[in-house]
Amino acid sequence: MTSPIIVRTVAEMREHVRAWKAAGQRVAVVPTMGALHEGHLSLVRLAQQHAERVIATVFVNPKQFAPHEDFDAYPRGEAADAEKLALVGCDLLFAPNATEMYAPGFSTLVSVSGVSEPLEGAARPQFFGGVATVVAKLFIQSQADVAVFGEKDYQQLQVVRRMARDLDIPVEIIGAPTARAEDGLALSSRNAYLSAEERAAAVALPTAMKAAAAAVAQGARIDEAERSAVEALKAAGFGQVDYVEVREASDLSRLGPGPIGDATGRILVAAWLGKTRLIDNMAVG
Ligand code: AMP
Repeated sequence: MTSPIIVRTVAEMREHVRAWKAAGQRVAVVPTMGALHEGHLSLVRLAQQHAERVIATVFVNPKQFAPHEDFDAYPRGEAADAEKLALVGCDLLFAPNATEMYAPGFSTLVSVSGVSEPLEGAARPQFFGGVATVVAKLFIQSQADVAVFGEKDYQQLQVVRRMARDLDIPVEIIGAPTARAEDGLALSSRNAYLSAEERAAAVALPTAMKAAAAAVAQGARIDEAERSAVEALKAAGFGQVDYVEVREASDLSRLGPGPIGDATGRILVAAWLGKTRLIDNMAVG
């Protein structure tokens, strides 16, 4: 077990990348906000299948949080993160501070229209501008050949694909399947916020989502399947349901309200359990 090299500056990271590339090695980057769990580690393992060297980045990005959101409360623990990365043989941990990422006077926002606008974009207007800005910076900073993102944040994956394509950033983007707990709940750093009672109730989210996806795949009306899922979430104790929507899988345009027909669908859900906002998604059919 080798610990990852920990670097805090772009200059240091680039020195390592330069040496690796000079040796003919491909480099992958796995951007994260830390509080690493098995889902993040599965991304590192997938990255290792596509590159000889893997960089994990840990940066709780202030630009993607609105003032009322959980930036301060977001779980942090670099020592535990570094240990987990060592277990999977990650080569380098890039853990910059906020000033390294956003020097005084920083004035640029990477704004992706279209695919970033519905769903998470509607519920969290600041979010994708912050994500696209930090991810564009991480791509340029790391000069990675490959980047791995989780399907857990499906809309984010589509936004990042669009951004990299639009800006001609030479990075191959790979989506990784969602890692789940045994009962089906998607692993998430935010699951740490749930009380024992809430954690038990949270299983209703993947259960309702799967039922709706199966119903739509079997020809049910999309609006009815979405409504049933919202009712199931409320019955299980969820509070506000931000959305349950079946959308076109690549551009996230609207589908329905009737049966899905030949379209390729993705169901996406965001709902509150107490003070915790959970999101999930899966393919339809
Ligand atoms: P986060 O640190 O939670 O912002 O996520 C960093 C990366 O890990 C993103 O690409 C996420 O989509 C991915 N990720 C988070 N949770 C999971 C999971 N349960 N399964 C797979 N990937 C995940």
